[in-house]
Amino acid sequence: AKPKVVVIGGGYGGATAAKHVRMWSDHGIDVTLVEPNPGFISCPLSNLVLGGSRQLADLSLSYDGLQRTHGVTLVRERAEAIDAQRREVRLAGGQTLSYDRLIVSPGIDFMFDQIPGLQKPGAQEQALHAWKAGAQTVELRRRMEALPDGAVMVMTVPPAPYRCPPGPYERACQVAHYFKQAKPKSKLLLLDANEDVTSKGALFKRVWAERYAGLIEYRPKFTTADIDAASGMVISDLGEKVQGALLNIIPPQRAGAIAMQAGLANANKRWCDVDFMTMESLQAKNIHVIGDAIQVAPLMPKSAHMANQHAKVCAAAVVDLLSGRAPDARPMMTNTCYSFVSDRDVIHVASVHAYDAARKTLLVVPGSGGLSSAPSELEGVYAANWARNIWADTLM
Ligand code: FAD
Repeated sequence: AKPKVVVIGGGYGGATAAKHVRMWSDHGIDVTLVEPNPGFISCPLSNLVLGGSRQLADLSLSYDGLQRTHGVTLVRERAEAIDAQRREVRLAGGQTLSYDRLIVSPGIDFMFDQIPGLQKPGAQEQALHAWKAGAQTVELRRRMEALPDGAVMVMTVPPAPYRCPPGPYERACQVAHYFKQAKPKSKLLLLDANEDVTSKGALFKRVWAERYAGLIEYRPKFTTADIDAASGMVISDLGEKVQGALLNIIPPQRAGAIAMQAGLANANKRWCDVDFMTMESLQAKNIHVIGDAIQVAPLMPKSAHMANQHAKVCAAAVVDLLSGRAPDARPMMTNTCYSFVSDRDVIHVASVHAYDAARKTLLVVPGSGGLSSAPSELEGVYAANWARNIWADTLM
């Protein structure tokens, strides 16, 4: 019988790993992908739905290519538990799947308990995060459209590390881009738990000053301790109160629930430590963890691009290990994060990360990477092509 790989989560990490284990083993390994959602919805570009230049349908793709072209078996269910001793995954419906190697890519879950007001009945429907692209993205846009001109919208940024370091600041640009056209007396109040803009800071701040003066008010070092969703109130850890007509609360984050339940998270109980040569968990043998759920290497963002790179290092190692070969000892990963500051103009940050055998982690290659000098339409073309390419690489 062929070796069996089970993948939990069909997002950027999991779908890419499933496809590449099939491809790189010449279909010599059976791969089952467990994912409850009927289709793939991209978080990258989802801020443009809020800005109004894209629809959710533009970011929604099918899993058909994984099944038809690559012979991945799709199980449309949630994985409920992992038994590392018996090498089994139990599904929500009660069925179990056995594996030789398991790849876990569940993304993030929110630490709603850190903001007590979010645990009141109905609060999570009133104060949307829209930090997993889908119904909440569309609903947040609808609520922005319903705001009167002159309204204040409040968005909170959690302490790092969180999914997509530049994401909240790109979102601020998209909200302001919409307000500038449709509601010029309105304002976005951006309450950031961090010391400063955590990614592309100088570029974002210049854009806010030059293009969106009066439309974005940025307040760093504002840690959201509580909210009252019904009255639109946000309260800081210092007791400061701020009110808005519309709340977008992005709560603190940790590895997806299944990784936590399976005991894959490290002592701080948030993220999963891995061996960066293989992406195998340091807590459990034969289980690999990739994507946003891992404890990242220094200066490594939680991004779709990085999840794609984790997936390839992982897939290559899994194919090697199941074929009795030693995995490559020199993994190398790259990242580019594009941010749309309007419907067309884009800025980017890029980096290259190489395995350091002495420190057993990935380190940024000195002199590698780069940053835009200014937003441009040309980079807008690159960003749209980046999305098309990574979708093809993940799913087709
Ligand atoms: P995901 O892609 O979230 O996939 C996780 C999957 O696991 C989901 O499909 C989920 O349904 C499934 N799952 C979870 N638990 C279970 C379970 N128990 N059983 C079965 N399935 C399960 N990154 C970039 O590189 N560039 C960008 O421009 C960019 N823009 C962003 C903009 C926004 C607004 C946001 C929110 C994120 C952005 N990102 C961007 C970050 C990117 O979306 C994530 O880093 C990426 O999705 C991580 O991949 P993942 O596989 O870890 O998680």
